[in-house]
Amino acid sequence: MVESQIKEGQPGIAKAALFGLCPQCGAKTLFAGIARFSDRCGNCGLDYSAFNVGDGPAALLTMLIGAFIILLAIATDIAGRPPFWVHVIIWVPVTAALTLVSLRVAKSALLAAEYRNRAREAGRSDLL
Ligand SMILES: [Zn+2]
Repeated sequence: MVESQIKEGQPGIAKAALFGLCPQCGAKTLFAGIARFSDRCGNCGLDYSAFNVGDGPAALLTMLIGAFIILLAIATDIAGRPPFWVHVIIWVPVTAALTLVSLRVAKSALLAAEYRNRAREAGRSDLL
């Protein structure tokens, strides 16, 4: 089972994360929406709903992107002293786009890593 899951044609975690690839067959079937997983791979049938990436990526990305955007906004303000509405029309869409793109990448990376490491919830059989 361990060796049978690692076959030729499987994308690496980074490649699967960047392009939303199925970690088992490499088809571009991971996402059904912008940042929402499909139920299963349309190519090989891997059940994506069995993986649970949770809210870890969202919490981490909120902090990282928030800090990054604030630094950029402060730098912009110091550099050019633009009126407030300029900040609004720049940083609101930039924040939304960065969040969606990075959430997509982070969620796929976690799912691919879970697939690679066969991570799952502990059960009774793990105690023995
Ligand atoms: Zn697949």
